[in-house]
Amino acid sequence: MAQDEPGKSKVQTRLVIRNIGLLLSGDLEKPILDSDTVVAVDGKITAVGKEKDVASDGATLVIDAKGTTLSPGLIDSHVHPVAGDWTPRQNQIGWIDSYLHGGVTAMISAGEVHTPGRPKDVVGLKAMAIFAQRAFAAFRPGGVRIHAGAPVIEHGMVEEDFKDLAAAGVTMLGEVGLGSVKDGATARQMVAWARKFGIQSTIHTGGPSIPGSSLIDKDIVLAADADVIGHINGGHTALPDDQIVTLCEKSTRALEVVHNGNERAALLTLRTAKELKQLDRVILGTDSPAGSGVQPLGILRMISMLASLGEIPAEIAVCFATGNTAKIRKLDCGMIAVGRPATFAMIDKAQHSAGKTVLESIQRGDLPGIGMMIVDGVISTQRSRNTPPATSAPEIVQA
Ligand SMILES: [Zn+2]
Repeated sequence: MAQDEPGKSKVQTRLVIRNIGLLLSGDLEKPILDSDTVVAVDGKITAVGKEKDVASDGATLVIDAKGTTLSPGLIDSHVHPVAGDWTPRQNQIGWIDSYLHGGVTAMISAGEVHTPGRPKDVVGLKAMAIFAQRAFAAFRPGGVRIHAGAPVIEHGMVEEDFKDLAAAGVTMLGEVGLGSVKDGATARQMVAWARKFGIQSTIHTGGPSIPGSSLIDKDIVLAADADVIGHINGGHTALPDDQIVTLCEKSTRALEVVHNGNERAALLTLRTAKELKQLDRVILGTDSPAGSGVQPLGILRMISMLASLGEIPAEIAVCFATGNTAKIRKLDCGMIAVGRPATFAMIDKAQHSAGKTVLESIQRGDLPGIGMMIVDGVISTQRSRNTPPATSAPEIVQA
């Protein structure tokens, strides 16, 4: 029995969150659920419904949401971690924990490219990717799950290398274009090898990010055919408008919009995706840490920016950072449904926001306040130290 295994909890944990004022599902098809209660057992959602219809007995933790909003924890589709909770990019410690206080519970590495002395030989880059995958799988600051170990492809790699990486547990490539492979034909070949072994890929799009990197234009992006058109709004420098529109129209791949990019180009991408009726392709990242710093509130800021300036309902903008990313990145988080992880951001309109409700406040361009973060059924933090204060915050009524 599992009870006797060392390290396994003998007591089943049963979380009940009641009095939820608004339940955001993360699912573009049905972004708002008509429910006020969520139950989770051992970190997984077991029931979502009205309090009278949901069995809430035997709880080990009861939270009164106080009428606030429950959303899936946010996913940052584009980060550049290095090791531990440290980034050498701006020499900051504790940045991942700080993002938790901005609603983020999962991050996807677009390459551990800021690693000082990053190896560029094939054996070295493979070793580094496997190390990062292992280290971040075992290290979760504030509960945040960091999907890392994203090698940057270099000339000289052969099909066998991708097979080795996949067998060692590597599931994605870092941004194509940040290494020596910058031509469409080689990129296409390596992306195809990666895909063959179940490794997902992202391509850098737009002008060079830092001295030494280069322009990746629409022709290279289309030729490479990576799974995610990384920062289609530039990181920072965006492609010309006609190229962005062409990428939206000619490719079927994910359209990743980032905080550390061109905001006008982000809105152009959103508008084009909306016209194409392909909002399911839009996912959000920060592309940080980077030259412009770390952005603990970066994903919330993107949701607010796209909702307020992009004429997208706030509950849909939340899906860009939750369910959409989960589907495209094949993650089990990001949606409120039975069987999914009990990983939540509990938000409310910020104190003194002009919006009457949390959705209206986001629609008006304000950031919501976070009252509590829950990861895998466990409270990670109560009131966020980084967002503006939430008007109301959930309370623990039984623990
Ligand atoms: Zn990039």
